[in-house]
Amino acid sequence: MRARIVLVLLACGAVAAQPARPSIALIVIGRTVITENARHQVLSPGAVAIDGNTIVDVNAPDAIAGKYRAADTIDVRNDVVLPGLINTHTHAPMVMYRGLADDLALMDWLNKYIFPAEAKTVSPEMVRTGTRLAALEMIESGTTTYTDMYYFEEEIAKVTREAGLRGVLGNTIIRFPAPDARTPAEGLARTEAFIKAFKGDPLITPAVAPHALYTNDTATLLACAELARKYGVPVIMHLAETEAELKDARDTYSATPTAYLERIGFWGPRTIAAHAVWVNDEDIAILARRGVGVSHNPESNMKLASGSAPIAKLLAAGVAVGLGTDGAASNNDLDMFGAMRQASFLAKHITHDPAVMPARTALDLATIGGARVLGLDGQIGSLEAGKRADLISVSMGAARQTPLYDPVSHLVYVTRGDDVRTTIVDGRVLMRDRIVKTLDAAAVIADANRLAEKVRAAVGR
Ligand SMILES: [Zn+2]
Repeated sequence: MRARIVLVLLACGAVAAQPARPSIALIVIGRTVITENARHQVLSPGAVAIDGNTIVDVNAPDAIAGKYRAADTIDVRNDVVLPGLINTHTHAPMVMYRGLADDLALMDWLNKYIFPAEAKTVSPEMVRTGTRLAALEMIESGTTTYTDMYYFEEEIAKVTREAGLRGVLGNTIIRFPAPDARTPAEGLARTEAFIKAFKGDPLITPAVAPHALYTNDTATLLACAELARKYGVPVIMHLAETEAELKDARDTYSATPTAYLERIGFWGPRTIAAHAVWVNDEDIAILARRGVGVSHNPESNMKLASGSAPIAKLLAAGVAVGLGTDGAASNNDLDMFGAMRQASFLAKHITHDPAVMPARTALDLATIGGARVLGLDGQIGSLEAGKRADLISVSMGAARQTPLYDPVSHLVYVTRGDDVRTTIVDGRVLMRDRIVKTLDAAAVIADANRLAEKVRAAVGR
């Protein structure tokens, strides 16, 4: 009897001596994992091991299962798993103006509809309701990080944090009286308070956001650049969006917007320039030399007939380029799959070269390219051990996705935002099986519809 007990104890000891599999929070298993790492590694099948807010391993499912014990497993073996999409330019609360005024040129659209509507309806409540709606749409369509420039940005930051999204956010600084600041000086003071409140937040990167060259004077622009340098935060601005803006800069400063901003010493590290449609070769050289990132917004540029940004030239010059939707009033959605497809089509269309932006490049721009534009490529943009766990899974079972020869082709050319099934940010599951966990979808939509009645009344529509 005693001998048998000893044997059993020995056997148990032998088992215990084997290295225990470490416990981790979550394993995500997909039919394909597109890593977007430097080697463009794709695993079929693949798995991502997550602990806390961090990716700890990416490997074949068997290898991951042999190495870790997970508290939870998301087994989406029919889905493609990829880094969360990064929207490098939007104005989240403008979802409240979606479809309010279409089919107009930028200056008419802004001056006759958007600026008056904003003057009458933008409030902290409107910003919260609009941002919740935008966050719901972004989580449902696979965006995990977004860049925003609007008013009452502290309300946007709070809602972003509640929803669980990552945000690079800046309070708009603009020459005329704004809903949250009567003067640019007030806007700058609000921005400094905003930076102090959110610097170091795990999800929110505060930024300084002068609206554009044509809506700010030189002293304000330099004060913005100085504030960003003081706190080591990014700058977000619109740049060379329309031909009218180019003409205005030539008339006022005898220079292109990019060259004028170079002349006054505005450009600094981590500047995110939205649009860069009307840039010449010298401007492109300046953007490359100064390390300015460009947010390309093909759908907004086409809808407002602003022009076509020379993305192939920007990329060839070594400029970091990401994709954006712009505000939903000029797109009219926040679906980054649409941005990828249209970026690819527009580049082909304007260069008459079908090889100029392959699907692979469009996907790069929406993931690791966007991370570079934001200066966050050390943390997000690819699925690699040590990076933040921001990832999505996309269903590939729809008729329009059948058959499936190349997942990258399908992601860019046939997938829609509503094919996304799982959205994870900073290790937190925000959507599982299309059920959003962090927002009450029905309540968010009902609140937005209630607020839309006020918008309708304010603009007489
Ligand atoms: Zn914009």
